[in-house]
Amino acid sequence: MTILITGANRGIGKGLADEWRKAGSDVIGTARSEPGMEPLDVAEPDSISALGKRLEGSPVSTLVCNAGILMDRHDQLDNGYPPELWAQHFQVNVTGVFLTIQALLPNLRLAVANGGHPKIAIISSKLGSQASAGGGRYIYRASKAAALNLGRNLAIDLREQGIAVGIYHPGWVATDMGGSNAEVSVEQSVDGLRRQIDNLTLAETGCFRAWDGQDIPF
Ligand code: NDP
Repeated sequence: MTILITGANRGIGKGLADEWRKAGSDVIGTARSEPGMEPLDVAEPDSISALGKRLEGSPVSTLVCNAGILMDRHDQLDNGYPPELWAQHFQVNVTGVFLTIQALLPNLRLAVANGGHPKIAIISSKLGSQASAGGGRYIYRASKAAALNLGRNLAIDLREQGIAVGIYHPGWVATDMGGSNAEVSVEQSVDGLRRQIDNLTLAETGCFRAWDGQDIPF
């Protein structure tokens, strides 16, 4: 069975791809432009549908929507957060997630037809939780809240088709995005996330969970 991970050329996505490969899984890692990797720009609908066409007829057992951006960390409430930045974040962190899942639904259904128990993992963030609102980063927070909402609703619609959906917080991780002061190493985050995703079943579909297995209040 095949695991497909978006944004697998660096950071958490690369860590997940490396670890699943080490464990013997067949992994398709996507990247915007990286030799030897499956090309995919999640901000470009044509790029997403081209991926769907290339993979036509191939079952996917786990789809990890990991690609994401965070670019509003220094914006000021009074004069920051320009509309273009909103559009850019929603294109990648929300629309990109939805269109990728939509394009690969036939592949996930093929896994069901082959007797498998496919799943979708959406890498959101604790910053998307209403319950832990902390102010600031309005665009990123709103985009991750939307990704969480997508996952919660997809879980309802896909349950009866035998496809489980989990929404995950990877921790504050030492990647290009998380920076060097982060609390969790890529290895720790990836080890925990892999465990959570591998163990996801339909019984827990719609869960919002951290890398260490803790449920996060919505
Ligand atoms: P990085 O910035 O290290 O990596 C981001 C990945 O997403 C890269 O592979 C990047 O590719 C890819 N990406 C960005 N834009 C696009 C696009 N338009 N199309 C395809 N791929 C794209 O981030 P992390 O590894 O830290 O984050 C991974 C996920 O985890 C993200 O969704 C992030 O929001 C989430 N997260 C991370 C946290 C952290 O502390 N690090 C905390 C909470 C959530 P490229 O090299 O081409 O830019």
